[in-house]
Amino acid sequence: MDFADIIGHEDIIKHFKSSIEQGKISQSYIINGEAGSGKKTLTRALVKTLQCEAGGTEPCNACKSCKQTMTGNQPDIIWVTHDKPNVISVEEVREQVNKDIGIKPYSSRYKIYVIDQAQLLNTQAQNALLKTIEEPPEYAILILLTDNIDKLLPTIVSRCIVLNVKPVRERDILDYLTNELGLDKTRADFCMDFAQGNLGKAIRLATSEEYNQIKEDVVDILKKMDTMSVDDIIYAIQNMNHHKLKISDYIDMMIMWYRDILMLKVTGNPGRLMFKEYYSEIRAQSSHISYEGIEKVTKAMDKAKVRLEANVNFDIAMELMLLTMKENR
Ligand SMILES: [Zn+2]
Repeated sequence: MDFADIIGHEDIIKHFKSSIEQGKISQSYIINGEAGSGKKTLTRALVKTLQCEAGGTEPCNACKSCKQTMTGNQPDIIWVTHDKPNVISVEEVREQVNKDIGIKPYSSRYKIYVIDQAQLLNTQAQNALLKTIEEPPEYAILILLTDNIDKLLPTIVSRCIVLNVKPVRERDILDYLTNELGLDKTRADFCMDFAQGNLGKAIRLATSEEYNQIKEDVVDILKKMDTMSVDDIIYAIQNMNHHKLKISDYIDMMIMWYRDILMLKVTGNPGRLMFKEYYSEIRAQSSHISYEGIEKVTKAMDKAKVRLEANVNFDIAMELMLLTMKENR
């Protein structure tokens, strides 16, 4: 995918293009944004463009470098890999970046290192990287992608150009889902609402074969809230192992459910509900729960997401959320 094909992210693309035009490409970037927000897509377009022999603001797709990039064989674009899923070690940084960076580009103008999931670099690895970021050879460019910039040392962040990935406009996501993926309006609306500006997330749900089952499972849990114990519900949530989806995705859907309840309570109009097919359940719930209750529940859900993100024990995070949900029925 080239810049021209990317949906949204106009600010970042404009920044890159004007830097290329003015010959002011920085030697170190941080691209910050949640998973699925488009960091890798933007990076792939950037590195291909930077290494293109034509030297324009879009890749020519005809030169040797462009062709190599498309097949993943461009020797001067290095995606740093790591063995363990939860950490990038100092050895990996030394082997793949520090020891390699002194060797001049094989065939291109630049030598570009991309470290995806840079939040996994441990302190030692970040310190090793810092030396390179402080004094890189003139042909070298380092790009760190992260979903949590707070995990990076301030000394690293201050030496990089930080680009924050912004949400994609709802209309653009909807266009993509209906025109490119051929989704019907109801499904496209639901996936768009679920994604909250994250196109990757929208696509993940939209293309899931289990789309209907996922919705059903989430509603099932919400319906059983009164009759099931907290422990049983936690067990049920833990076992909703649909492929490609995370626990926070289920919580996002539950938040959508409560937004539907709120919508129905405020407008009395079922036309704009996301869970249209469960209108009678939503109506029944909306007649019991107070506005204050809805607010408490959605806040508890947001908090649960933050706690899970911070690696708080899963059972504790869920228990607190579920208790609030049970109290506000
Ligand atoms: Zn080219």
